[in-house]
Amino acid sequence: MASKSKLYFIPGSQDLYGEECLAQVRKDCQEMVQFLNEKLSDVAEVVLMPTVETSKVCVEDIRAAENDDDCVGVITWMHTFSPAKMWIKGLQILRKPLLHLHTQANERLPYSEIDMDFMNLNQAAHGDREYGFILARLGIPHEVVAGFYKHDDVVAKIRRFAHVAAAIACGRNLTVATFGNNMRDVAVTDGNRLECEIKYGWEIKYWGIGEIASLANTLSDAEIDQKMGEYQSKYTMATDNREAVREQAKYEVALETFMKQNGVGAFTDTFQDLHGLKQLPGLASQNLMAKGIGFGPEGDYKISALSAVLMKMSEGREGATGFIEDYTYDLEKGQELELASHMLEVPPAFAATKPEIQVHPLGIGGKEDPARLVFDGVTGDGIQVTLIDLGDHFRIICADIELVKQPEPMPKLPVARIMYRHKPNFAIGTAAWCYAGGAHHSVVSTALTREDIAMFARLTGTELITIGDDTTEADLQKFFTPGR
Ligand code: MN
Repeated sequence: MASKSKLYFIPGSQDLYGEECLAQVRKDCQEMVQFLNEKLSDVAEVVLMPTVETSKVCVEDIRAAENDDDCVGVITWMHTFSPAKMWIKGLQILRKPLLHLHTQANERLPYSEIDMDFMNLNQAAHGDREYGFILARLGIPHEVVAGFYKHDDVVAKIRRFAHVAAAIACGRNLTVATFGNNMRDVAVTDGNRLECEIKYGWEIKYWGIGEIASLANTLSDAEIDQKMGEYQSKYTMATDNREAVREQAKYEVALETFMKQNGVGAFTDTFQDLHGLKQLPGLASQNLMAKGIGFGPEGDYKISALSAVLMKMSEGREGATGFIEDYTYDLEKGQELELASHMLEVPPAFAATKPEIQVHPLGIGGKEDPARLVFDGVTGDGIQVTLIDLGDHFRIICADIELVKQPEPMPKLPVARIMYRHKPNFAIGTAAWCYAGGAHHSVVSTALTREDIAMFARLTGTELITIGDDTTEADLQKFFTPGR
């Protein structure tokens, strides 16, 4: 995560309490912000803003948050009662993710000392409810985190908010280059590009793949040599066909150059439009994904954007995150497993061991044999996330999975692969995914959890369906979309 991410902390009170009380509010907030800065220094800087005592201050605070490009989100807390009409105009201009911290300056009640002054000063139970009402009344997506601010679980949730807010900010600055269009007859990869930009800020822009082909032909030998050096240092060269690998090196340098020139952070291609390219970009796309570039095959701009956003969310956290395609099953009763892979483009983040560069024919697309990275995948708990367009709204589906070691080697499968087990079991887990309309393209992550995705869904106002050990046969009815 970029260390310059900021979270603006805006406390609430009112000007009826007098200077002494407001000075104490300020002092307590400073202490709280200092504590949060110590705990969150690796993910964000928390910036204390003037206490909201009037509508004017509220507008000024939120305007400042909106105007600061480094600010990814806003934290609010009502130390005292803060009549919520004074928050309306400010909240109406807030576009950044909002965390409502429902906490207190004091952990315990001072039973033997408590008097009216103390109760008036420390009344989040009162003020935060008034504030919660206006958020609900205005229909503002937000996250509520409740508990004493020094408790580990509360800090962990604020930390999660910092990651998710940074990911949302990344999406709002994201341009996805679609080289070629959607794979002609595929439904789930298509949808409303305009709505993606309105809702998530993702700018989905079209370019012909010829742009990359032309750029690739202008590159110097030195540029390609340098990329080959990068491949050699990161991967095992398990082919004699260096020309095929150089071809991929050319594509990657061309794609990198193009994306830099056009401010692009994610892309799609399609094997149905490779005009001017000799191979489908395999190794090139894989190595770009390893650098946090979003990718979707077959024109899948939604998954390309989502993969870039979730890779951003996972920055600084242990584990792998990237695009994955569902392929085939081992249906041994009670031991069912899924093999997830792709024609070529599996992110090397999932490699359990050093990937090999191999060159094999590709039966689809009618082009030359492409170079690709081949490896077996990592193991551990993970999630599988997809985003579908249902015409009148987007839906995120998030399933808990367990990534497992492949039970036997697959020496004749010339692509990278991961394997996983569905939860709560194969029958319910995969049926739920199908009922929910889940795509065969998704983002798999061993770094993120369902809670991260749920927070992303809440903060972006997206419908969410989750599948996991808590999913029952009876739940399947809930996932079924009634006829239109
Ligand atoms: Mn596909």
